[in-house]
Amino acid sequence: MTQTEKPEVAVKETPLVPIEKIVSLCKRRGFVYPNSEIYGGVSGIYDFGPLGVELRNNIRRFWWWSMVQTNDNVVGIEGSIITHPRVWEASGHVENFVDQLVDCKKCKRRFRLDHLPEENREQNRCPECGGELTEPRKFNLMMETYIGVVEGDKMKTYLRGEACQNIYLDYDNVLKSSRMQIPFGICQIGKAFRNEVTPGNFLFRQREFEQWDLQFFTHPSQMSQWFEHWKEQRFAWYKSLINHKDRLRLRPHGPDELAHYAKQAFDVEYQTILGWQEWEGVHWRQDWDLSRHSQYSGQDLGYTDPETKEHYIPWIVETSGGVDRTFLNLLLDAYEEEPDPNGKEPRTVLHLNPWIAPVKVAVLPLQKNKPELVETAKNLYKQLQRVMVAQYDDISNIGRRYRRQDEIGTPFCITIDFTTLEDQTVTVRERDGMTQIRLPLDEVKRYLLERVTWNY
Ligand code: ATP
Repeated sequence: MTQTEKPEVAVKETPLVPIEKIVSLCKRRGFVYPNSEIYGGVSGIYDFGPLGVELRNNIRRFWWWSMVQTNDNVVGIEGSIITHPRVWEASGHVENFVDQLVDCKKCKRRFRLDHLPEENREQNRCPECGGELTEPRKFNLMMETYIGVVEGDKMKTYLRGEACQNIYLDYDNVLKSSRMQIPFGICQIGKAFRNEVTPGNFLFRQREFEQWDLQFFTHPSQMSQWFEHWKEQRFAWYKSLINHKDRLRLRPHGPDELAHYAKQAFDVEYQTILGWQEWEGVHWRQDWDLSRHSQYSGQDLGYTDPETKEHYIPWIVETSGGVDRTFLNLLLDAYEEEPDPNGKEPRTVLHLNPWIAPVKVAVLPLQKNKPELVETAKNLYKQLQRVMVAQYDDISNIGRRYRRQDEIGTPFCITIDFTTLEDQTVTVRERDGMTQIRLPLDEVKRYLLERVTWNY
């Protein structure tokens, strides 16, 4: 992979950022709000504010660009949230999508059995207060809903518990309606819903969240090769977006974690204050999904090779990650409070990759009471706004305005000053190094586009 034109962030050894810092910044600056806050909120459900939606869109677009747009053998779909209920019987979710739950009899805290430390599980003791735990109880994570208006005739179904099922459902239609031949992949980004037993840690574990999936269909003899290919691609993709490269790793699943059909599986993991946690899973799914849907629907989802005429159920490599976990991990990776050398307040800065930063540039007239400065700044702002997300800001002194932009991760600020009026040049100030250069006004657009557009 090559990364050109991206200003490298000088990575300092910084401590792992507490989630509360990100929660507070997100609320203060309009990235994320608790859902239904005026009614007391709903646990594990969030809304995204003006900056959050820009960041989310950029994250999604970058994934789509690198997975669909730039791969000849991958296409995209967008499936619906509600499907026929048989889908979830075939997938095994109705029967098996359960978490085992225990409660502490003393402090009343609730835990997922598989999240308890080994010794607490063995001793049946609460990890918080040492109290006795209840017997495990099973909870199905699927969210139920009903289709139809006539009481009694309503059909019970589910909000999808994982987005990828639509890909198996549409696989045959994609084959028949496009020129795809095996090996090829189908991608999708979409919402998923889980009645998580222990939602928490902000966006990390929610009840409504968004997933991205690639399901790559191959002949069994090429499975190993494609599995390696996508494992490497996905790891490199995450690496390209973060500053702390040492906090990313690929962890192979142990034999006890592997599904019965899987020869191998890997998690891309990222280290935060929560420890090493899954960011994306790369799974060897073999012919499990298409076989199950063939069996449950009665439709043959096999593939006939146009040359050899061999008929077989394709095997699948899955890469499945989360938009929200990406959002959170990127903020945790980018956040820094830099001490001020002059002993003033620390500078809070988001060292976000310019490709995904929500605002790409801020245009700032040095003074707002000088009409010539304001007019030139507004003209430039209007020009830039057409090709990238830009802000215009003339409130308070220039230092404060830089700080405001640093806090939301804006990679460049352009200042229009008195020299601009004399020689048509502007100051370009870069976020991470706080370096400043002068550029002719008419070169600003090209200069910025080269740096904020991905080139990976
Ligand atoms: P976990 O073990 O953390 O519960 P999982 O193995 O069930 O995750 P998958 O079903 O493989 O997760 O989902 C793929 C991706 O979707 C995960 O890697 C994660 O990024 C994201 N994801 C899963 N559950 C949630 C959730 N409740 N909230 C936010 N993102 C989630």
